[in-house]
Amino acid sequence: MKVGILGGGQLAQMLAQAGNALGVETTFVDPGKNAPAARYATQIRAAYDDLDALAQLAASVDVVTYEFENVPEIAATMLAKHVHLRPLPIALSTSQDRLTEKTMFASLGIPTAPFQPVASAADLEAAVRAVGLPAVLKTRRMGYDGKGQLVLRGAADVPGAFEKLGSVPCILEGFVRFERELSLVCVRGRDGETRFYPLTQTIHEGGILRMTVSPAPRLDDELTKKAQEYGERVLRHLYYVGVLALELFEESGNLRANEIAPRVHNSGHWTIEGAHTSQFENHMRAIAEMPLGDTGAKATTVSINLLGDSPALEEMNAVVGAHAHLYGKTAAPLRKVGHVTILDDGSGAFDERVERLRDLVARATAAVSA
Ligand code: AMP
Repeated sequence: MKVGILGGGQLAQMLAQAGNALGVETTFVDPGKNAPAARYATQIRAAYDDLDALAQLAASVDVVTYEFENVPEIAATMLAKHVHLRPLPIALSTSQDRLTEKTMFASLGIPTAPFQPVASAADLEAAVRAVGLPAVLKTRRMGYDGKGQLVLRGAADVPGAFEKLGSVPCILEGFVRFERELSLVCVRGRDGETRFYPLTQTIHEGGILRMTVSPAPRLDDELTKKAQEYGERVLRHLYYVGVLALELFEESGNLRANEIAPRVHNSGHWTIEGAHTSQFENHMRAIAEMPLGDTGAKATTVSINLLGDSPALEEMNAVVGAHAHLYGKTAAPLRKVGHVTILDDGSGAFDERVERLRDLVARATAAVSA
């Protein structure tokens, strides 16, 4: 079995690593010189809209997948014509546009923040009247890691906000006063079989994911059932094959969907050591039409993103039970250069070990902050 991936970052790297163990050969397309995945897979170095390169990829693999949702439409259309593209292009078109995504949630009866499209400064005034303040103005396309969004706290923040985001099509969302953020990582096979990892608590700072705790503390069955029901609706709607992450806000025992990622996701990195089958292996199994693996957790698992720069590997690995993953990237402010995962071994030292890792990571991040 041969798998092609669009993108050669850390997600493609970890997919290729999982693929190796399954006997799957991986080829990826990426325009970059030092693509992290190049250490584990064959690179076709080309732009994502280079149709010759995509034709070469399509001719050399059995199935193509992607590690990012902003795949150009022309690439998705072309690939889908010549090779199995999993997940299907509908997952891309839905997740590339926040308005389409939120409209899908609403049409599937999945609660979300109130929202209004904004195509002009005048629209924004009207949307503020409909949604109320505080609210979050987001560009419909190309937003990630908190980029392309502005929190409007009061009336004084409204004038000029649309222009600040570049006068591009936007969406205004009501501000959700959530108690915490959760992520549901799901996997669905070609035959429709669906499995869910336990809900993960995600901790963001400045719009960037810093840490996950899995399974999330204080989970009750009702909450998990609700999240899985929402996940199931989305997967069915998108005829989905592969791993998908559903990001959720928890507010007084209720869930509101924030967004989906039609791919393996940072909130599932903990599954490499913390679950019986990692999200990367399960994504490869799903798209290669192999039986899905067990999504159960082995123990409480914390995963911390290494942002900016990595602490010394020896220092991280000196913490009992820690597993550091480096993506082979050079340091830059807030760049995701790796992650470190630790499992609770029941010895009573877990919290202290997590604190030690967080402290090491915070110091390395601060050393290259802008
Ligand atoms: P997003 O790019 O939509 O994932 O947003 C990044 C982060 O901003 C989220 O993880 C939340 O912490 C915060 N955020 C996004 N949308 C809202 C909202 N409607 N209300 C409150 N916080 C939000």
